[in-house]
Amino acid sequence: MTKTALAIHGGCGVMAKLDLSEADWAAARADLGRSLKAGWAVLTSGGSALDAVQAAVVVMEDSPYFNAGYGAALNANGEHELDASIMDGATLEAGAVTLVRRIRNPVKAARRVMEKGEAVLMGGTAADDFAKAEGLDIVEPTYFTTEKRVKALAAMKAHAAAGTAAKASESEKHGTVGAVALDAVGHLAAATSTGGYNNKPAGRIGDTPIVGAGTYARDGICAVSGTGKGEFFIRYAVGHEVASRIAYLGETLEQSAAKVIQEDLKPHNIGAGLVAVCADGSITAPYNTDGMFRGWVTPEGEFFVATHVEVFKLPADA
Ligand code: ASP
Repeated sequence: MTKTALAIHGGCGVMAKLDLSEADWAAARADLGRSLKAGWAVLTSGGSALDAVQAAVVVMEDSPYFNAGYGAALNANGEHELDASIMDGATLEAGAVTLVRRIRNPVKAARRVMEKGEAVLMGGTAADDFAKAEGLDIVEPTYFTTEKRVKALAAMKAHAAAGTAAKASESEKHGTVGAVALDAVGHLAAATSTGGYNNKPAGRIGDTPIVGAGTYARDGICAVSGTGKGEFFIRYAVGHEVASRIAYLGETLEQSAAKVIQEDLKPHNIGAGLVAVCADGSITAPYNTDGMFRGWVTPEGEFFVATHVEVFKLPADA
């Protein structure tokens, strides 16, 4: 039996500490804790890494504090186009959906795409229809809209009109949720879900549904879920790059992930972060922004969540 491990992120589009009330921070941390608990419950009851990452991501998709599912970012037309993916490190099977508008939990649709086995990536209305036919929860597109995202879109459009888009805060720009896990029989899995970036062009597809970029898992090496400016994650094939540096160069998980986030991506002046778990159960969560919503569980079953530098240990009964 190997040791189990779980890590999650709620995106590197984190607000400056002062811009959010302590009550909102506490609520976001509580949702991170619920996500960890959902994933950890799967792992400790002998479930698969795949089920664990899906369970953890579903909780964050249902939370308004993160840019995925309910509370997702709006595109330039004021509409939601959601992306998600999931990957099984044991078989290298993967599933993803992009530009979906009616699936309550896009990660569940990604899983169904994977299990069906006829495609890796499905997009647009056909993917919405597929999810419906598979019996998943279908919602009106407005279900995903929160007041915070409407305001953020207006703010970003004002920035764009004034030519100050580059000055927008990371939280005004983007966010994503993701999870990585190692289960008791040594299998790795990763899942990621996002609304993309605020005010993105209609039809834009980011890294989240691109296997090898925003999501990657391979048994014996690592599982990775990314957050940040997706175009760069695609160009650097970030998930696969992190795994390759470990496999071919013999780097540790921490060295490999830090190299990609801090040395490859940071010079582009874009927000970037990831969570990753190695085949030995080690976890890393580097980011180059002010903060990244994140959490992890130690092999002893201790839960930790963080938004900025400070790390909070959750009480066992939280
Ligand atoms: N990676 C996401 C995308 O580009 C956004 C983010 O994580 O902030 O769609």
